[in-house]
Amino acid sequence: MAIDLVRSKSGAAVHARRHQVVIVGCGFGGLFAAKTLRRADVEITVIDRTNHHLFQPLLYQLATGILSEGDIAPPIRHVLRHQRNTHVVLGEVVDIDLDARQVTVDTLGQRSRIPYDSLIVATGASQFADDDRDLDYRLIQVGIGTQLTNELP
Ligand SMILES: Cc1cc2nc3c(=O)[nH]c(=O)nc-3n(C[C@H](O)[C@H](O)[C@H](O)COP(=O)(O)OP(=O)(O)OC[C@H]3O[C@@H](n4cnc5c(N)ncnc54)[C@H](O)[C@@H]3O)c2cc1C
Repeated sequence: MAIDLVRSKSGAAVHARRHQVVIVGCGFGGLFAAKTLRRADVEITVIDRTNHHLFQPLLYQLATGILSEGDIAPPIRHVLRHQRNTHVVLGEVVDIDLDARQVTVDTLGQRSRIPYDSLIVATGASQFADDDRDLDYRLIQVGIGTQLTNELP
C-alpha cells in the first residue's frame, strides 16, 4: 500500500501520507533497492554513515593508482540526484526501534529519529579477516586504498 490516510481525532481523513521507506546503507544492496523503488509511490530515505557510494570491486584499481577516489566513490547525493522520491541522510544508524518503527541516526554527534513504514537494512558484512596485514581487508576503505598506493613500489 502506497498511501496512508492520516485521521483527525474525530476520525475524518485529513490528508494522505506516502508510504515511508528507510534504507540503511548505500552500498550495492542499498543503492539497488533505492533504484528499484525509483518509480514507486513511496518516499525513500537513504541513510549512510559515509557521503559516498563505494564501488568496492574497483578498489584494486585505486590501490594501484589507475583510478582516483572520485572515480570509484561518487557522492550518494549525486548518484541519486534524479530520483525525486528519494532523499539522502548522512549519519550512522545506532538504534532501530521495531515497535515504534523508528531508526536513530547519529550525525556528527547529533541524534535524530526517522520514522519508517518499511525498513531495508543493507549495511553490508563485516570482514572475515581482521588482520591489517591482509590485503583485501586493507583495501576495504578508500582512504586505506590511497595509503596502499603510496606504499607500492
Ligand atoms: C577489493 C574487492 C573486490 C571485489 N570484487 C567483487 C567482484 O568482482 N564481484 C562481486 O560480485 N563482488 C565483489 N566484491 C564484493 C562486493 O563489493 C560486496 O559484496 C558488495 O559491495 C557488498 O554490498 P553491500 O551493499 O552488501 O555492502 P557494502 O557495499 O559494504 O555497503 C554497506 C553500506 O552500509 C553503510 N553502513 C554500514 N553500517 C551502517 C550504519 N550503522 N549506519 C549507516 N550506514 C551504514 C556503509 O557505509 C556502506 O556504505 C569485492 C569486494 C572487494 C573489497
